[in-house]
Amino acid sequence: MIYDLHTHSNASDGVLSPAALVTRARQRGVTHLALTDHDTVNGLHSARQQAEIEGIALIEGIEFSCLWSSRSIHVVGLNIDSASAPLQEAISAQQEARDSRAVEIAKRLEKAGIPEPLEGARRIAGDAVLGRPHFARYLVEIGFASSVNAAFKQYLGAGKPGDIKHRWPDIHSMAAAILAAGGVPVLAHPAKYELTRTKLRELVATFKDAGGLALEVISGQQAPNETDTLVQITKQFELHASCGSDFHAPDQPWQELGSFTPLPSACKPVWQLWH
Ligand SMILES: [Zn+2]
Ligand SMILES: [Zn+2]
Repeated sequence: MIYDLHTHSNASDGVLSPAALVTRARQRGVTHLALTDHDTVNGLHSARQQAEIEGIALIEGIEFSCLWSSRSIHVVGLNIDSASAPLQEAISAQQEARDSRAVEIAKRLEKAGIPEPLEGARRIAGDAVLGRPHFARYLVEIGFASSVNAAFKQYLGAGKPGDIKHRWPDIHSMAAAILAAGGVPVLAHPAKYELTRTKLRELVATFKDAGGLALEVISGQQAPNETDTLVQITKQFELHASCGSDFHAPDQPWQELGSFTPLPSACKPVWQLWH
């Protein structure tokens, strides 16, 4: 059995449709797949239908952004009831936070001489949640930047007019929403925050205090020493362990579906919490 418990479709910032993602996962030997799009459950319905066709188990999930010690931290919710009212409220709050940030970015860009940035970025975003990449593509479209990278360098990156910080909710409120939806809160890719060991332990302590139940011990292809550290921390804090690719696109082999080392045997697998 291969569990991949962290993946993205084009319902958030992934490339494949939820159905295509499920098919690819089955082709790559995944038997249990969680779709965990950023701040949305919109992809789950069609993923569920495709999972029935392909004969693989779909675990309903989401990935929330939250703020801890002025950093963006990601918390995955696994085995959630996607129709739960507290979860839906949390999703709306996230969307409002993103929207108000987008409005502020647009105001700053307008001051910097960009014509109609909000309208332009919204048109490019379509149904997707509006973010800086859409502003970047608009800047390229109207000839204010030569590429998306250049748009970030000139207008959207650190210290530039469009550099507005996120205003995510804190870990406690996001974990509470996942728990209220019957789900398991998992601290996503702990090694990616580039924290010292001491800081990482502080983060895990806060997460555990918020009701967090598991740590993503394996995230895509990672260095063995990272895995060792995370195994130690799950033991210290008596947490379960999760594993996932964090798949976004087929051309990123280091985050391929089902393609990572299995959970070390010293760990308690997170799926024990719902089986
Ligand atoms: Zn993440
Ligand atoms: Zn992710």
